[in-house]
Amino acid sequence: MSATGWPAKRSVELGWAAFAALNLGLMIAYPSWETIPFHLIWISLTLVYGFRVWRLPQTVTVLAAVAVCTGASILADAFDGIQLWGELFEVPLMSAMFLAMVWHAQRRQAAMVLVQQQAEERRELLERQERFLDDASHELLTPVTIARGHLEVLCRQEGGTRPEVDVALDELHRIDRIVRRLLLLAKAGTPDFVVGERVDVESFVEDVFMRWSEIQPRAWRLGELPSGTVVADPEALRIALDALLENAVKYSEPGAAIELRGCARGESVAIEVADRGIGIAPDATARIFERFARADASRSRDVGGIGLGLAIVDAIAKAHGGRCTVSSSPDGSTFSLVLPRFEAAPDASAPPADLAAASDDSL
Ligand code: ADP
Repeated sequence: MSATGWPAKRSVELGWAAFAALNLGLMIAYPSWETIPFHLIWISLTLVYGFRVWRLPQTVTVLAAVAVCTGASILADAFDGIQLWGELFEVPLMSAMFLAMVWHAQRRQAAMVLVQQQAEERRELLERQERFLDDASHELLTPVTIARGHLEVLCRQEGGTRPEVDVALDELHRIDRIVRRLLLLAKAGTPDFVVGERVDVESFVEDVFMRWSEIQPRAWRLGELPSGTVVADPEALRIALDALLENAVKYSEPGAAIELRGCARGESVAIEVADRGIGIAPDATARIFERFARADASRSRDVGGIGLGLAIVDAIAKAHGGRCTVSSSPDGSTFSLVLPRFEAAPDASAPPADLAAASDDSL
């Protein structure tokens, strides 16, 4: 510790010591009024201790010094007949009050240390889990890629596919998707999971819409979109919207309506995916955002669901400081990805155009 460091670190104690010495001086100078500086010393000691919580030996030393000094002053005045002898009881009483405070403060400090230790242990455990997930996923990807490559070569050599090979390829594709999604989730807690930049909401959502509406046979509709920008990681946002749209397709029949739309809510923007699919049972909506959770396990498995898509959407939304919510009925579901830090375009008051209405079916 440097020579200048100690006084700076102990400035509160030094300030209090000066204050206590001044009040002790006042007790000696004005014996008939000494009860006021006497109590000021004890009150200030309790206050300072509340902030500092010294170690036990230091606490006992300070307490003994204060009790002796204030007690000696009252004792001298009692001998001189200026104070009543009964005033001496104030010293053990104030000491007892101070010790009660010490006891509480020590207990609180011990509890805080325990909480900190547990938080640290939890953090380490999480880190270990994430590292394990990351390592295991990377190790799994390589053999899966090699096996797929061999099977594809086999197909090419045979000039066509066999059902057994198709099944094997499908399963390998499934494992590949699971592993890649796990890898993404393993990164969810890291600081660079999302890197924000200003993203134009209209053009971004339109782009995602075009990609999906061209490849999947559904009654696609692009609803109203707010003009403005939001601070978001475009890559992560695309992954989240893709996951929501993939579900809308997976859990609806060909020809069913799917709408992608957005609306500004003050300084947030909500991007919504609404479908006319199978809907989600009310008791399942709370848990579908958990990893490997499925509302209907057999149905999800039939359509190739693995229960990681919404966990990823949720992690991405939270990493942006936002959230993903769902409302559902037997007629379909609406997922709403809410992102903060939206800035409306200056001419946003103009009514937005309905850009592409492939269906009149309003969701
Ligand atoms: P999965 O890969 O199983 O689709 P998700 O995490 O994306 O995993 O979704 C979790 C579960 O939520 C799904 O298994 C499904 O039961 C339900 N779900 C998600 N989106 C929809 C939707 N649009 N309509 C009906 N159910 C849905």
